[in-house]
Amino acid sequence: MRAARFIEAGRGAEIVDVPTPSPRAGEVLIRVAGAGACHSDLHVLDHGLGIPGPFTLGHENTGWIAALGEGVTGWQEGDAVAVYGPWGCGSCRTCQTSAENYCERHASIPTYGGGLGSDGGMAEYMIVPSPRLLVPLGGLDPIKAAPLSDAALTPYHAIKAALPLLSPDATVLVVGVGGLGHMAVQILRALTPTRLIAADIDDTKLAHARQLGANVTINTRDGRAAEEIRDLVGQRGITVALDFVGAQSTIDLAAQVVGRNSHISIVGLGGGTLHYAANNPPYGTQVTIPYWGSRTELMEVIALAQAGHIAAAVQTFPLEEVNEVYQRLREGRIQGRAVVMP
Ligand code: NAD
Ligand code: ZN
Ligand code: ZN
Repeated sequence: MRAARFIEAGRGAEIVDVPTPSPRAGEVLIRVAGAGACHSDLHVLDHGLGIPGPFTLGHENTGWIAALGEGVTGWQEGDAVAVYGPWGCGSCRTCQTSAENYCERHASIPTYGGGLGSDGGMAEYMIVPSPRLLVPLGGLDPIKAAPLSDAALTPYHAIKAALPLLSPDATVLVVGVGGLGHMAVQILRALTPTRLIAADIDDTKLAHARQLGANVTINTRDGRAAEEIRDLVGQRGITVALDFVGAQSTIDLAAQVVGRNSHISIVGLGGGTLHYAANNPPYGTQVTIPYWGSRTELMEVIALAQAGHIAAAVQTFPLEEVNEVYQRLREGRIQGRAVVMP
């Protein structure tokens, strides 16, 4: 079968023939429907992120069950599923709560999951090590649903942690309205009545955010964003800032505009540093560094999509065009999420 593989940092994805895998006892073979192209893949392709290759890319996957390994029960061949991405040990206390994204044994597991250390979904088939990592898609279109397992799950998990602060009189700031951010806007609209300011450096992305329910949009290119936001929110400041970029400029922006007793969530891996001095960011600010989400949160995200509250804006591409896809993502020329269809 054809597969798009990460070999080593700085080399680009390689599209090669690899043997079609067969599931061992306890595993499940998935015929891949869609594999989302996440900006994290660019961090891996460019800098490695400390994850050794080679492995097949694609950590945001959906498909159909193609074969069940010995001993796997409760599933049928042909079932449409989302693959939960952060593979933990499955048995530590945290994994038992379904939050495998925070597995206590992560340091001793040689992979982050399929597409991030293990073979992922940018191939016709992928192996999932246990059926506990599958969530049924119900009637959702598997190709359009691929982004739910990361581009939606990650912001959902970040937003849930801030939910008690997202009241009708508060203001939430979403920085970066690409793959994750355009889902964050929809999730916020579905869960909260909070006023929503979206910020990006690209006017097309901002227009998309307004269509999806952002109340105000701000282009941060001219460096006046902090002032503009302060004019909008007054002394209370931003109550929740969700940073889907994580660059120095965006982390600084979040720190400058939040008020007291607020929440900053740094999701993007842009390499910025949050500095702290007395009351700056202001007293009471909670800072979180969320990573992906839990298995039960993926079930909740899929339920939100099934109810029609959220839908990824998807651009599809054949597997052979994967390097073109990554180049477009790097240049900001993907609207919503690119999904590769092996
Ligand atoms: P994307 O490329 O689809 O979207 C990024 C958006 O940010 C684009 O709209 C772009 O125009 C905008 N942007 C870029 N620089 C900006 C700046 N300086 N100010 C304002 N906006 C800016 O990327 P994505 O797939 O949504 O991923 C976003 C980030 O989140 C990446 O760093 C990715 O690695 C990270 N990520 C983290 C997790 C996690 O669990 N923590 C999970 C998935 C992705
Ligand atoms: Zn990702
Ligand atoms: Zn664990």
